Amino acid sequence: MQDQIYDCTVIGGGAGGLSAGIYLQRFLLNSLILEKGKGRSVWIQNLTNYLGTAPETPAHKILKQGKEHYLSLNGNYLNGFAEEVFDEGEYFRIKVKTNKKQAEYREIKSKYLIAASGIIDLLPEMDNMRNVYDYAGYNLHVCMVCDGYEMKDKICGLFVNSDERIETALALKWFTSKIIVFTNNSFAISLERQAKLEKHNFKL
Ligand SMILES: Cc1cc2nc3c(=O)[nH]c(=O)nc-3n(C[C@H](O)[C@H](O)[C@H](O)COP(=O)(O)OP(=O)(O)OC[C@H]3O[C@@H](n4cnc5c(N)ncnc54)[C@H](O)[C@@H]3O)c2cc1C
Repeated sequence: MQDQIYDCTVIGGGAGGLSAGIYLQRFLLNSLILEKGKGRSVWIQNLTNYLGTAPETPAHKILKQGKEHYLSLNGNYLNGFAEEVFDEGEYFRIKVKTNKKQAEYREIKSKYLIAASGIIDLLPEMDNMRNVYDYAGYNLHVCMVCDGYEMKDKICGLFVNSDERIETALALKWFTSKIIVFTNNSFAISLERQAKLEKHNFKL
């Protein structure tokens, strides 16, 4: 792997990165996907919004299929964390940590890069974080687009970390009117936002 220059390296082997990799191989390019493991999608215990999959399908099943598909097209896959990228002019040099415990590194060269590294959720600090993983995707949700429907007519606690985020309550109203906004006293709430919550009878 270290001796060649890939046409394109994709950082992230989630749904986005695997789709990119499959298309790169279908364009007869030599690509590599780097995946650090434990991505956000491992939390998805059942996918209820994907066309063509049974609602109880866990995301890891989709990713396994996607990886197999990518490898069947002669794609290259490396478990490792892309730690740094250097622009060397003709190619990018990517420093990849392949062993967390012993800090082993490899250097990958690639003409192009695709960043498909997803997003990171900012979760409220809790004493027992284990709960987050047990409930995530069932009654603890992080995305209104994916999971707003699951809140239909339910009593919903909305955890926000800034005054602006309070606006989410107004969008969530599409699914339920029973909303309690939690701020953990971590910021000042503007009068304007307080008035909006009161107008809709949302508790603060
Ligand atoms: C609890 C929960 C439930 C969800 N439910 C749904 C649902 O039902 N339906 C739905 O459509 N979406 C759902 N989502 C959203 C879902 O996470 C995204 O739709 C999907 O994962 C986005 O794919 P992605 O490839 O863009 O990003 P990700 O899946 O986040 O993939 C990015 C990948 O990049 C890797 N990565 C990041 N940085 C590096 C690095 N430096 N080096 C190497 N690898 C790296 C990560 O390990 C990860 O695997 C849910 C999310 C959560 C948290």
